[in-house]
This record gives sequence, structure tokens and C-alpha cells, in this order.
Amino acid sequence: MKKDFSPTLLDFGPLQIFLARHFGFCYGVENAIDIAFRTVEENPGKRIFLLSEMIHNPQVNADLQSHGVLFMQDTYGKQLISFDELKTDDVVIIPAFGTTLEIEALLNQKGIQTEKYNTTCPFVEKVWNRSEVIAKKNYTIVIHGKPKHEETRATFSHAASNAPSVVVKDMNEAKELAKYITGEKTADEFYTEFKDQHSDGFDVIKDLQRIGVVNQTTMLASDTQAIADYLKQTMARRFGLNENNIEERFADTRDTLCYATNDNQTAVNGMLQTEADLAIVVGGYNSSNTSHLVELCEKKLPTYFIRDEEKIISEKQIQHYNFHNKEELITENYLPGKNPLKILITSGASCPDALVEGVIKKLTVYFNSEAKFDELIRQFE
Ligand code: SF4
Repeated sequence: MKKDFSPTLLDFGPLQIFLARHFGFCYGVENAIDIAFRTVEENPGKRIFLLSEMIHNPQVNADLQSHGVLFMQDTYGKQLISFDELKTDDVVIIPAFGTTLEIEALLNQKGIQTEKYNTTCPFVEKVWNRSEVIAKKNYTIVIHGKPKHEETRATFSHAASNAPSVVVKDMNEAKELAKYITGEKTADEFYTEFKDQHSDGFDVIKDLQRIGVVNQTTMLASDTQAIADYLKQTMARRFGLNENNIEERFADTRDTLCYATNDNQTAVNGMLQTEADLAIVVGGYNSSNTSHLVELCEKKLPTYFIRDEEKIISEKQIQHYNFHNKEELITENYLPGKNPLKILITSGASCPDALVEGVIKKLTVYFNSEAKFDELIRQFE
């Protein structure tokens, strides 16, 4: 059945909110949160550790910490609590992003069971399975993802256990990698340029003869497609191949974005068909999938990336995050004096719906529409 990606209009009279058709929590995040809280309930008196942030949402992580859950690493893999601290009867939860084979082996060595508390999303495991299939056909694995992101580190570890692997973070890096395929750059440069992004013993000459691309599940669909196409064309040019025989050198795979990334991005594209005055994207500032929703919106209209309603300081000021240079800033007069004022709203896969509701409610106050908001909420209850 064809899905409907047009936004939902919440009409508050002088304020019109167009809510993306798909937004917020995905299956993997709901499942992970569910398992994490069940783990806390089922293990009274035990120390419970999470390998890193559960998901990229500060409210959810703070909630878990308030239930006594301890985080072992920060989001970039920096150790907060040493693995030496762990004892056999501790409980360790693996987050939705999954973890590396090295960490899994370390936990097993310590006699800590991980199966019961493993919340790795099945869509992340799907990427690992896809890379295994590619590896078995003797292709080198190119991973399009953020090199420091937990999911990409986990995917890289799984991929590298099966085949030579290299991570490219964006089109610029893909273009640089292509220069090693064509011979425009020398092998020596590769090890500096792709430091910490290639598997041990990567042989630039031998390992770029046959490649396949997989990606972090939350990348921007258009970027992933463009990178795969670019590398495919590079292989075709370099080895004189065409559509009929390209598979000799380039694995024929579709992207490995997850359904939530696809649906949320398509819904934002659907939402952007509506003429509006501004967009608000709600989510954690280190959330990859949320930043891509911001990227889509900001190409078309003024866009404010906020963590929750607290960031809406008043009807005159909003504090929002610029993910390009990683800083928060305050914008004045962000609500233009139009009637009706049209605002597009969406949120990332790690953002609880209650935060979106809070944002909408706060905005309605500035338009004297709280009564309408309450009436609308009752309709949905
Ligand atoms: S964003 Fe996708 S891959 Fe990540 S947890 Fe959600 S469903 Fe799983």
C-alpha cells in the first residue's frame, strides 16, 4: 500500500502547525528503552551499566541514570568507567547502536552475559549481515557513516572481522577514496588520510579492486545514494565496465538505511511541499538522524533545532543548535508577524512524543490558543 507522507494540519486559528506524517520514536529505540527499564526492574540490588548512551536523547538518558543506570562510555567512545571495574554479577546493557566485537569479547571474558540485555536494533544487525554477505563474495566494505558514531564503530568492527573495510563520512571523503582507486593518489597518503577509518593491514592496491557500500542506518538518503553512485561510476571508469558487468567490481546492494530514517526523511520532504514560515525540529543535539531532518528543512526555510520546549525562551527568542559548527545560539524575532503563521514540526527517532507535544503547547500560548490545544489533545485521547 502506498504510504501517505503529507503532513497533518493542527489548526489553532492564527497558528497553523503542520506536523510531519512520520516522526519520533522508532521501533529500535522503543524496544531498547523497554528492555533497559525491564532490566532495572528485574535486577534489584545489582549494578547496571550501559555501554554508552542508550539513544541520543538527553531526557531518556537522564531518566535511566536517575534509576541508577551507569554509563561506561560517552557517545564518542571516551571511557567514563573503566572495564576493570566490572564484576561477573554486574549487568551490562548493549545499546540500540550495538557494540564492537572487541567489547563483546571483553565482557564475555569477564563472564558477563550480554544476550539477555542486548538491545541492538535489528536494523543495525541487518547492516552487519549485509556486510557479511558482501565480504563472502570477496568485496572490500566501504561504510558510509560518521566514524566516531557508536553504530558506525560497531558496524566497522563487524565488517572488518570479515573483510578489509574503510569508513567514509561524506561525499568529499568518497571522492578522495576514489582517487586511490584510480591511482591519482599514492598508497602512502591513504594511511594518513583515512587514519583510524580503515581495517588493520588494509592494502590500498589490492583491497580497492572490488568494493561494496553499506551505510550507517541514519544517514541522509540522498547522500548515501550519491556516494554509492559515485564509487560505482569510479569503478566502471577505472576498470572499463558497464551496467552488465559492473558487479565484477562493485557489489549490487541497496542502501542499508532503516525504515524509520526513510520514513522520517520522506515525511519531511512531504511536509516541505507546504508553504510555511519556519520549521522546528525537536531532538537530541548528538542525534545523527535528527540532524539530517534539520539539513533537509534548512535548505528550504528558517529552521530551529531544539532539544525541548525549554529552548523556546519567549515569543521573541529561541535558543537553538547549529549542528554544523556545534554551538547553540539565540535568534530574536523567530516568529514572523503573519496571520496565520505556518510552522512545520518534526522530531528525530530518539525523541519522545511528549517533547513535541510540549513544544506545540508552548507555541499555542503565544497565540492565545491553549484552549484549542487542550480540545485537540482530548480528541486524540
Ligand atoms: S533509527 Fe533505525 S536503526 Fe536506529 S534504532 Fe531506530 S529503527 Fe533501529
